[in-house]
Amino acid sequence: MARRGNSIIKGIEVSELIRLLNKAYADEWLAYYQYYIEEKVVKGIMKDAAIAELQQHAADELRHADMVAQRILQLGGTPLLSPKEWFTQTNCGYEEPKDFDVTAILEDAIKGEQCAISTYSELAEMTREKDIVTYDLVSRILADEVEHEEDLTALHEDITEFISSLRG
Ligand code: FE
Ligand code: FE
Ligand code: MG
Repeated sequence: MARRGNSIIKGIEVSELIRLLNKAYADEWLAYYQYYIEEKVVKGIMKDAAIAELQQHAADELRHADMVAQRILQLGGTPLLSPKEWFTQTNCGYEEPKDFDVTAILEDAIKGEQCAISTYSELAEMTREKDIVTYDLVSRILADEVEHEEDLTALHEDITEFISSLRG
């Protein structure tokens, strides 16, 4: 069973797990903000469909940040206390939207989701059969990230097909 401090859960060092969860926590806040601002600046064909998707994903990323923070606390850690640390700890970084066109925005967001999928896949691999609570948490988040990536990819396809149909 998990003990606090420098303890070990079935071969996983808890301090290392907390460190990796904090990196994912930084990713979630940056992903949240990326969706938050993209939804406001996005332009172009079928942007309303994109706005609905981006808003939903923003809410999901904020919920993920909360889930990860709760687990860090349960493990005896402290979630990153300063937004400055989001940039030093992030795995996936932050794609500042420079081109507000809907297809460019969706491409940035898809990259972010692909990175999130690989982060949570690694966390699931690491905790499988070792820390069931964290494994369950990261698996649930992973399922959301996979759905995000699929939704964005499908929307990107619809929009690019529509644009090419207009060109005849
Ligand atoms: Fe997320
Ligand atoms: Fe996501
Ligand atoms: Mg969605």
